[in-house]
Amino acid sequence: MPPSAAVAYHGTGVPTDQNNPIMDFRFQRSYRGPLRAVILDWAGTTMDYGCYAPAVVFVKVYERKGVPISVAEARVPMGAHKKVHIRKIAQLPAVAERWASRHGQPPTEADVEAMFQDFIPLQLACLADYADLIPGTLEAVRAFRERGLKIGSTTGYTGEMMALLQAEAKHRGYEPDATVCATDVPAGRPEPWMCLQNAQRLGIYPMEAIVKVGDTLPDIEEGLNAGMWTIGLAKTGNELGLNEAEIAKLAPDTLNARLATATQRMAQTGAHYVVDGIADVPAILDDIQSRLARGERP
Ligand SMILES: [Mg+2]
Repeated sequence: MPPSAAVAYHGTGVPTDQNNPIMDFRFQRSYRGPLRAVILDWAGTTMDYGCYAPAVVFVKVYERKGVPISVAEARVPMGAHKKVHIRKIAQLPAVAERWASRHGQPPTEADVEAMFQDFIPLQLACLADYADLIPGTLEAVRAFRERGLKIGSTTGYTGEMMALLQAEAKHRGYEPDATVCATDVPAGRPEPWMCLQNAQRLGIYPMEAIVKVGDTLPDIEEGLNAGMWTIGLAKTGNELGLNEAEIAKLAPDTLNARLATATQRMAQTGAHYVVDGIADVPAILDDIQSRLARGERP
């Protein structure tokens, strides 16, 4: 129908024109149905408290190239495809400087590829050591299921790494309905493709019926770019970068200050909610549901 025909009459059948107040409003379709799925990140979200497994391997890979990096530097690009991650570490100014003084020039794409080839077996060899579920994961997943939600998942790990981790997770009682890896799509986070492929595999739409949960800033960007509700986890993953034993040793003031920083970073990235860990997610879903019922969108 041409636009002129669409606006020629309103509900009363009375012809309208540009002077009619009804022309000041445009009516928009909005989803008010139930939440239908949650998409969970892996390391730092459902397993590997503190997101250690990749961090320690990035340090080793750079060490082999004669360029020492700190664990903190290794963590900066966390969430990305692992090869992209290796490239991004080299772009950190301090690392770029160390690399140049060791090699006399910036790393080439061949260097990045060689480090990624080093990374794969090193990561595969130690992944199972970091496969324990984060406390509260099974209870949260049960709550999602009771709500009728499907469970999707995304990760910066490769398909080969995920096959190993999925078996470890299943052994521990966690089995999502769909898993999409960075290597399954044209580009990983922050692009939305892993989230969108989850939606497709789960057969779920619209995107505002889906909640994305993750522990890194690229996780949050991924969810927002996909048009989904997005929850950041400040305590159990890469932002704090500590396991439970290390957190227990922190002075309460130090812990609170670090949590406040992580929370602020995630909120500034645009997360709709920031909580400590996956155990806190089920309680937020009612709030999201009431926002949907009011006609809000992510
Ligand atoms: Mg993660």
